Amino acid sequence: MSESLQFERIRKIAEANSKRVLDAFAKHRVSDSMFAGTTGYGYDDQGRDVLDKIYADVFGAEDALVRIQFVNGTHALFCALFGALNPGDTLLSITGAPYDTLLGAIGVSGDRHGTLIEYGVKYREIPMVSGRVDIDRAVSAAEEEENVLVYLQRSRGYGDRYALSVDEIGDIIARIRAVNPKAIVMVDNCYGEFCEEREPTHVGADIMAGSLIKNPGGSLAPSGGYVAGRADLVERAAERLTVPGIGRECGASLGNNRLLFQGFFMAPHVVAEALKTAIFAAETFEKMGYEVSPRADEVRYDIIQTIELKTPETLSAFCKGIQSGAPCDAFVTPEAWAMPGYDDPVIMAAGAFVQGASIELSADAPMREPYRVYLQGGITYESGKLGILRAAEEILKLKK
Ligand SMILES: *Cc1c(COP(=O)(O)O)cnc(C)c1O
Repeated sequence: MSESLQFERIRKIAEANSKRVLDAFAKHRVSDSMFAGTTGYGYDDQGRDVLDKIYADVFGAEDALVRIQFVNGTHALFCALFGALNPGDTLLSITGAPYDTLLGAIGVSGDRHGTLIEYGVKYREIPMVSGRVDIDRAVSAAEEEENVLVYLQRSRGYGDRYALSVDEIGDIIARIRAVNPKAIVMVDNCYGEFCEEREPTHVGADIMAGSLIKNPGGSLAPSGGYVAGRADLVERAAERLTVPGIGRECGASLGNNRLLFQGFFMAPHVVAEALKTAIFAAETFEKMGYEVSPRADEVRYDIIQTIELKTPETLSAFCKGIQSGAPCDAFVTPEAWAMPGYDDPVIMAAGAFVQGASIELSADAPMREPYRVYLQGGITYESGKLGILRAAEEILKLKK
């Protein structure tokens, strides 16, 4: 698909998603009084409770929980998992190893204390084959397990794999349900929101979760996460976020409601800007002779662009360039460090208004072969393009 066709497709998706968001705002009678929010316990926070309903409607879910108290996406995912799983149940990940930070939370790596495995959950994983779900193995594993939560990660994360389209997720869910109607299907939706006109909960996912400093926060949410899906599972996640018996009733929004509403309003457009930035990056680095995924002409199902930079020096130069094009901390040079929750040292470029927000133009890479950088975000296409050009320049300087 040519660039102009790609951009046209993205524009149509952003329009359809903006309409769904606006319709939900109108239906729930959003008004200024909802933006103030609460302090203390946070009882009767009208804005917070209405935003939950708006997320649920837009995502085609029964219910949702959108909270500033989720410290990040991992926390939202963990609350959803911990709520849905009982001791003795099986967590079956069918998109290979989950995102790095979840490995520690499940108890696959590191100290087991407080993890799902210590709680009594059994863990099984079906590796992906050539970057795709090994569907036959996944289905027979789901059939074998009595009480199972089937877990899928929509985006590529830090993996060498493809993102799943919502259609594909729907097909996978249908095949799992056919052999095990009781199975709970959960989707890690990080980086996927608003990349298509539908979300996994539109095609049968029981529960999904994501981060507000990625797509759905529209770059304005200062922190937080969300869970959306079946009402009983959302309730259980709320009881893990706070306390059983208290659940969603407590959690003051502390003056953040306006940013969460406005961010969700902006999100379809901001995601479109990030998608266009990713396409520009793919074109630029393809021309420079690097392996990129997706290719510039491929249809995209998440906002992530990977580029294989081959050497630690080019990877560092790339990150230096991205950083130098950022609105904040443009003067610093990124260096690899041991990040909590990650196994290899990670190098990151993120000169963001919101710390670590990867809906803003950012690049991260584990320092390991093939020095593949994961680039994402770009809240305006113009600034995204400039950042990519800086990165290309830094690499060209190395070759002189
Ligand atoms: C970002 C992300 C997460 C959660 O990461 P946090 O840094 O905790 O927000 C989980 N899964 C995927 C695929 C992600 O991209």
